[in-house]
Amino acid sequence: MKLPLSPGAAQALFRLRAAGYESWIVGGCVRDALLGRPPGDYDMTTSARPEETKAVFAGEKVIETGIRHGTVTVVLEGEPLEITTYRVDGGYSDARHPDGVTFTASLREDAARRDFTMNAMAYAPEEGLRDYFGGQEDLKRRLIRCVGDPDRRFREDALRILRALRFASVLGFALEEGTLAAARRQAFLLREISRERVSQELGKLLCGPGAGEVLRTCPDILGQVIPELLPMVGFDQRNEHHCYDLLTHTAVALDHVPPRLPLRLAMLLHDVGKPRCFSLGEDGQGHFYGHAHVGMEMAGEILTRLRFPGKVCRQVETLVRYHDSVLPEDPRLLRRWLRKLGPEGLLDLVAIQRGDTWGLAPAYCTRQEGFDRLEQRVQDVMNEQPCLSVRDLAVKGGDLLALGYRGPAIGEIQRQLLEDVTEGEIPNEKEVLLQYLKSFDAKNKT
Ligand code: ATP
Ligand code: MG
Repeated sequence: MKLPLSPGAAQALFRLRAAGYESWIVGGCVRDALLGRPPGDYDMTTSARPEETKAVFAGEKVIETGIRHGTVTVVLEGEPLEITTYRVDGGYSDARHPDGVTFTASLREDAARRDFTMNAMAYAPEEGLRDYFGGQEDLKRRLIRCVGDPDRRFREDALRILRALRFASVLGFALEEGTLAAARRQAFLLREISRERVSQELGKLLCGPGAGEVLRTCPDILGQVIPELLPMVGFDQRNEHHCYDLLTHTAVALDHVPPRLPLRLAMLLHDVGKPRCFSLGEDGQGHFYGHAHVGMEMAGEILTRLRFPGKVCRQVETLVRYHDSVLPEDPRLLRRWLRKLGPEGLLDLVAIQRGDTWGLAPAYCTRQEGFDRLEQRVQDVMNEQPCLSVRDLAVKGGDLLALGYRGPAIGEIQRQLLEDVTEGEIPNEKEVLLQYLKSFDAKNKT
């Protein structure tokens, strides 16, 4: 069997071997190559100790990524390669970090410490594939299976539970029965895992094509990471627009937004405020007054807790806050929205509203033309190059100084001008704006 290798990986294998060491590509890149997917990056494993690896690549760019864990990164042909010495992980007392790692002379032992059979294969052009745990067979059957006893492996490092769901989402695979049962049993340990590791896997999970399916089938596991999801499971919305319980609605909607992190997070959390806001009307219909606002606050809390970047948190909050606002087609009103959210933010909001609509009962979910039209209107307004921020105004700070404005009065008058221009009361033309300003009383200027 021949697998494709990147130029950097091929060179690294060759140079380690020429120096008398064993060396292999290993893990995700072997899995991806076997699946015919372009590998993200090439990880390598070698019998050379970290110091020896550094010596082999003396003169190249070498980064000591994790010397203690046996990893150095070597940059070859502009490609960063993580090269790790064969190792076995010591005990895990906290379901987080190995207490220590021990180097070993055996590729098989190195493979045995890896998480899933499909991630435990190694390859080198001379020897071909090393598959000690039936990884190829599992790839064929599209199954995610722990190497060894799944309960033990999840107890060692509970992040593996979330990784299993991540691979299920990204690859469209299923968890093997024993692995799934153990994942459910050990899911409570996810609460102990560092939030940065959790959010990284969660982000990849949500951006996979199978995210909705994972949410539908494993809300109990994801609920260990985001407990706020748990009240959504089986929650009957008692409303004619809805044919699904709240969690299923969310899962359907999730699959109908583009796979970008802020959109997927916002779709996951758009209705998280609903259980707290439920009331039953006299007509027997369920209502959720204020759920968008409550949801925004909850989403902010959840994402901050999970240490998502501040920018992502703010984007998601905005999308959740306005997810059920009625967007206008009238250009003047649309300009207000554009000023508030910016063009990308507004188009993202339309995407969220589309996704939300796909999760409605069949009689309502096909109503997508309104969104097509809305997107067209946003485009039309943008083509007119509207004035959306102070920077777009035809008069600049210098003009205002020349007119005698000083200090906070400058910002104030800029906001006033922006308001009047976007509302269409005056055109954004320098001469007109200057004239307009001159008609103001001098006492406004300081
Ligand atoms: P990706 O395509 O996201 O890079 P990957 O499988 O390469 O997927 P990495 O996080 O890059 O994932 O890890 C590289 C390899 O290291 C894995 O394929 C697996 O063999 C091993 N590995 C990573 N994380 C763990 C873990 N928590 N427990 C055991 N083995 C792990
Ligand atoms: Mg990788």
